Amino acid sequence: MYILSTNGGACMVDAVCQISSGDNPLISVSVMKKNYTNEMMHKNNTFSLSIFGMKDDPRLIKHFGMQSMRDANKFINEEYEIINETPVLKGTLGYLVLEKVDTIETDTHTLFIGKLIEAETNSNEEPMSYNHYQAHKEELMKATSESNKTAWVCTVCGYVYYADELPSDFVCPRCGATREMFIKKE
Ligand code: FE
Repeated sequence: MYILSTNGGACMVDAVCQISSGDNPLISVSVMKKNYTNEMMHKNNTFSLSIFGMKDDPRLIKHFGMQSMRDANKFINEEYEIINETPVLKGTLGYLVLEKVDTIETDTHTLFIGKLIEAETNSNEEPMSYNHYQAHKEELMKATSESNKTAWVCTVCGYVYYADELPSDFVCPRCGATREMFIKKE
């Protein structure tokens, strides 16, 4: 499992494949055409893949995989850095930064092919496979759901964020309201 990021878009992906070797191997990633990230991938020349680990916060799967940047800015409360003009999410096992060199269109997905220009390993912990995600989807989602957590509701747009405490620099990912605009719902 990977978090694919590019300027203006990010989503969870699993169909990542190394397709050549050498110092700057080619890597392909398949992205659904209906995803907003697909649109952004067509516009931009660089993208990054952050490697999601078994011990990484399952909240990120829901955050990056189950909402669209059409509705919410997924980066707004996350720690990331810009490398070669592309956002790279921090705190995962490592990342790859790629320069887009080709695209192949299919009926449902676009295959984006990138040349590796930078990579970093942060941890040697086990990465999460798509198979593991599918087999443990329910418990992974449960860990991020409303159970035992306080709901914080944005009084401007109605966005709900589940956490014990709202981070001090929290901003509504949907409408941009600051944390003072959120009310606690027990
Ligand atoms: Fe809001």
